[in-house]
Amino acid sequence: MRRSPASGGGVAPGATIRTRGALTGAVGTRTAPSDPVNSAGRPDAAGHDPVGLPPGAVAAVLDTAVAEDPDTAVCPGCGAVLAVVPPLTTDHPGASPSCAGLFDVTVRGLRDEARADLRTAAVLQLARDAYDAQHQVAGQPAAAAAALCLWVTRGLDPVREREVGARLADTAPTALTPPDRWTTTVADVAADLDVVDLPSLVRSWAEAVWRDWHGSHPELCAAADRAQRLPG
Ligand SMILES: [Zn+2]
Repeated sequence: MRRSPASGGGVAPGATIRTRGALTGAVGTRTAPSDPVNSAGRPDAAGHDPVGLPPGAVAAVLDTAVAEDPDTAVCPGCGAVLAVVPPLTTDHPGASPSCAGLFDVTVRGLRDEARADLRTAAVLQLARDAYDAQHQVAGQPAAAAAALCLWVTRGLDPVREREVGARLADTAPTALTPPDRWTTTVADVAADLDVVDLPSLVRSWAEAVWRDWHGSHPELCAAADRAQRLPG
């Protein structure tokens, strides 16, 4: 399983840290954010309780993977190695608290704009499906991975086809084995934010996640077929 570049905690807010973008290959510097993130704890549209990400937590995305470091934890879903930031918690199934928190802060700007802009709402839904497809829970419908068949390969709009996407909960298979490695994780997306616009990063990320699920493409697209055929 791929380990996303990460490091232990202790990076001070405002500190300049080195990042290497998996999507761009660029190596550069960035500044750890100094503002508290999403401390309001509002549930997002997918029903997840976002977690508060303390200042500097995005700085967990560094250029050295240290899986044995007791201050880091491997996300059980995507394999990203990120700093443990107690008392960070999450109820996102299949994700480590730090990973869910990093996703939350990465898409925060999209979430703020999505209500007023349909294109942003579509990018946000694509990001949510890419993330959820990487954090598939055993025994649950692989609805997010099947949704990527609709959005990535068929070019459907996640907002206009929201009802089709919702029906995937009934049509998606529940016994698929997720990929054992991921080309790109939310840690890679976060690392590239300074050099690539977020919608482009989300699109590349979703395409990579879909490719990683290649062993289950027939089952996932069959589920998408059934969802499209069902009456609305
Ligand atoms: Zn993860």
